[in-house]
Amino acid sequence: DRSFPYTRSPPDKLLGGLLPDGLDERSCRSRYESSMYRRNPGRRPSPHLITKLRKHEELQRRCGPNTDAYNRAIQQLRSGKSVGSPECKYVVSISYRGLGNRILAAASAFLYAVLTDRVLLVDPSNEMDGLFCEPFPGTTWLLPRDFPLASYTNFSIDTAESYGNMLKNKVLSADVPVAPPTAELPAFAYLHLDHDYAHEDKMFFCDDDQRLLSNVQWLVMRTDLYTVPGLFLVTAFQEELDALFPERDAVFHHLARYLFHPTNHVWGLVTRYYRAYLARAELRVGIQVRNFNPRHAQSPHVLRQITNCVWREKLLPEVLATEEHAVPTPGAKFTAVLITSLRPWYYERIKGMYWDHATATGEDVSVHQPSHEGQQQFGKKWHDGRAWAEMYLLSLCDVLVTSGWSTFGYVAQGFGAVRPWVLHKQPENLTSAPDPPCFRDVSMEPCFHAPHVYDCKRKRGLDTGEVLPHVRHCQDVSWGLKLV
Ligand code: GDP
Repeated sequence: DRSFPYTRSPPDKLLGGLLPDGLDERSCRSRYESSMYRRNPGRRPSPHLITKLRKHEELQRRCGPNTDAYNRAIQQLRSGKSVGSPECKYVVSISYRGLGNRILAAASAFLYAVLTDRVLLVDPSNEMDGLFCEPFPGTTWLLPRDFPLASYTNFSIDTAESYGNMLKNKVLSADVPVAPPTAELPAFAYLHLDHDYAHEDKMFFCDDDQRLLSNVQWLVMRTDLYTVPGLFLVTAFQEELDALFPERDAVFHHLARYLFHPTNHVWGLVTRYYRAYLARAELRVGIQVRNFNPRHAQSPHVLRQITNCVWREKLLPEVLATEEHAVPTPGAKFTAVLITSLRPWYYERIKGMYWDHATATGEDVSVHQPSHEGQQQFGKKWHDGRAWAEMYLLSLCDVLVTSGWSTFGYVAQGFGAVRPWVLHKQPENLTSAPDPPCFRDVSMEPCFHAPHVYDCKRKRGLDTGEVLPHVRHCQDVSWGLKLV
């Protein structure tokens, strides 16, 4: 029944003006139905963000694929030469690695595009075309298959046209007081912002380099990181970022809800599961178990860590020892637990625990896990669709327990506007449950795992987690940066 909302307040289908109105509802049901499933309506976008998004949509339509402007820009790229004040500039985001990484990368590229008035085009490989609806009305954000830089998806740290290598090889320099004539600039630069990037690549996060890059018509960006906290460190972007996001802990929240709408197939997975297993519960607790170390795929110590976390933090009721029976209290709360994991082991243990034993409070606890795919797989549509549906289902939970370091969990917490409890990453040799088992995160923002540790002005090392009050080190990845 489409009119039945699972929310507390009337659904707000445009999410406070974040979403553009008038897009076809049937071809992408999730876009306007999502608010019907969210108990927590999330944060409100600032008026400036709303205005900026509508303007950016106009830019995407004017300069996107199948326009004269796009065709001219492609000619320019083919010629290899830069052009003075081009009518449209572009950033192409390469999609690779896990789905969480791909989502964080596209969100980061989008914010960069918005800040620099560039059109965002997303590499359609790795199912980016099949998992998400088009975010911009009247155009496509997918890079056309006939894009002339044929080998762009193989660009790496060694690519000669990378910004870092062009600096290293003195093809470019951001140090000159006057910008070089545009004719001397290349038609495109590859931005290698990957976890393995070099010092020169990281100069991307400096003001002088941004000034130089602003004259390059085509940028191709590869990242598997949430680079947004790094953009907050670029002085030239700060005023605009402050206006767009007065609540700095909700940047990914807004970007994600604006950009990523599950396609109808994935939305079916989300909504059928939600209605069947989660909607009727009074409390939904999501537990995301990501075992980076295969040795921890079935570890009693990790199981202890999880139960210690949820019991100590009173997220779930404890179970009574042996054969005791709590008298069922009329009206006792009914809690549903959603576990996501590649393996079924933790789910089976936790479900068994709540079946074998009564809860101390008389509450009923049901435990569910949508899938157990065994291992991470690449380039498989069904696998990615399930991962996407599970991230989304986690985001519909009222309480979240996530695994530190995991971008999968970051996406869920950002969508849901939930500040999670985070399970500490387990050390290699685990002989007991990590203690403390988890911590409450300071914000719902994802962590930027590999930031620049450099003072661009003084040209020396700098702890970038100590520069701005709202850009701090992460608790899960201690050298990482996050917005708070
Ligand atoms: P990260 O590696 O934890 O940072 O998260 P990513 O999403 O980038 O990559 C992990 C990938 O493994 C996912 O995209 C899925 O393909 C798969 N995966 C990991 N955990 C789960 C899970 O709980 N459920 C499902 N369906 N897939 C998962």
